[in-house]
Amino acid sequence: MENLSEQLSSEELIALEELYGAHNYKPLDVVLSRGEGVWVWDVEGNRYLDCLSAYSAVNQGHAHPRIRAALIEQAERLTLTSRAFRNDQLGLFYRDLCELTGYEMALPMNTGAEAVETALKAARKWGYEVKGVPDGQAEIIACAGNFAGRTITIISFSSDPQYRAGFGPFTPGFKVIPYGDADALEAAITPNTVAFIVEPIQGEGGVIVPPRGYLRRVRDICTRHNVLFIADEIQTGLGRTGKLFACDHEGVRPDVVTIGKALSGGFYPVSAVLSSREVLGVFRPGDHGSTFGGNPLAAAVARAALHVLIDEDMIANAAEMGEYFQDRLAEITSPHVKEVRGRGLMIGVELKPEAGGARRFCEALQEQGILAKETHQHIIRFAPPLIITRDEIDWAVERIRTVLTMP
Ligand SMILES: *Cc1c(COP(=O)(O)O)cnc(C)c1O
Repeated sequence: MENLSEQLSSEELIALEELYGAHNYKPLDVVLSRGEGVWVWDVEGNRYLDCLSAYSAVNQGHAHPRIRAALIEQAERLTLTSRAFRNDQLGLFYRDLCELTGYEMALPMNTGAEAVETALKAARKWGYEVKGVPDGQAEIIACAGNFAGRTITIISFSSDPQYRAGFGPFTPGFKVIPYGDADALEAAITPNTVAFIVEPIQGEGGVIVPPRGYLRRVRDICTRHNVLFIADEIQTGLGRTGKLFACDHEGVRPDVVTIGKALSGGFYPVSAVLSSREVLGVFRPGDHGSTFGGNPLAAAVARAALHVLIDEDMIANAAEMGEYFQDRLAEITSPHVKEVRGRGLMIGVELKPEAGGARRFCEALQEQGILAKETHQHIIRFAPPLIITRDEIDWAVERIRTVLTMP
């Protein structure tokens, strides 16, 4: 047996991370060892309310018993076959996923970045084979402020200088336009444009909600120009904003949707691309794949994660509690707050520039028993698991008030 309970202090464990691990993150100095529902505990036994939910990967709450049972049961039977053989879980996962979302087909991968890469490859091939774009000329439009992952192709259309610095040369074929500006989309489209990729609400960009009607106009423009509308719902999807997909708030159906994060309830990396037969049908055997994508453990876990989302009415709770949480936050009179915004339980509190950055507020929240993470220097994101209750929000708001009214 591995010795999982080797007793080291938080300080000692942090020292190990700093010594042996690449420093590509700057986490809060809290070392977590247990989670249940909306709560997590550190090595010293202190309890915290998780207001990040692993960037929305644990929408269903930590260690959900039904997802855990599916993981354990499947782990005892069969974990990986590769797609060289079939397994008895994948078909069931496809069926449940497509019936829930209304898409004709799905393609399973592992991480969000892989789902985005897959969607981009599908769009390019669709462009050549279906739309008739000349070979090698396909263009894809993306938005400033986007976050879609960290591969070289994905950072090729990032507008964040830090994501790109030192990592070139980049993949060509992308154009970046302002977010929330449908006219800019229409102006950027050429006969070689195959797709527009957009987050319905920008998460890592700072919980940026586009103007009302934007997604409808995007839908209309993409339809008129025969351009695929790709919604990256890896963070916004699966209930986070109070609907199954954030695009549902405008009654809009994208041609392609990428999902990940909460697709496994935080147990295991599972992502997928959802689309039509016309688009995903461009992939033929050997065109694309992944050793772990669609493995039986992933399929069993993801099915359970989808079932609990629906069976336990978590999406309606996200809508109701999200509105409540936002209203309560908006009531706080703070010299530091510029704006409270968001949808459902995807909430951003933007601080004024003179507040000195969100980091010190996140550290103060940690002292109060709340874990939240700053994004883009001035924004604190509050995105607890979708199972949060009114009492837990009340508990949190009192502590958030204390922190936001400090000097
Ligand atoms: C997190 C995220 C991704 C990337 O997912 P990874 O699993 O980290 O690769 C892509 N798009 C959006 C909108 C995300 O929030």
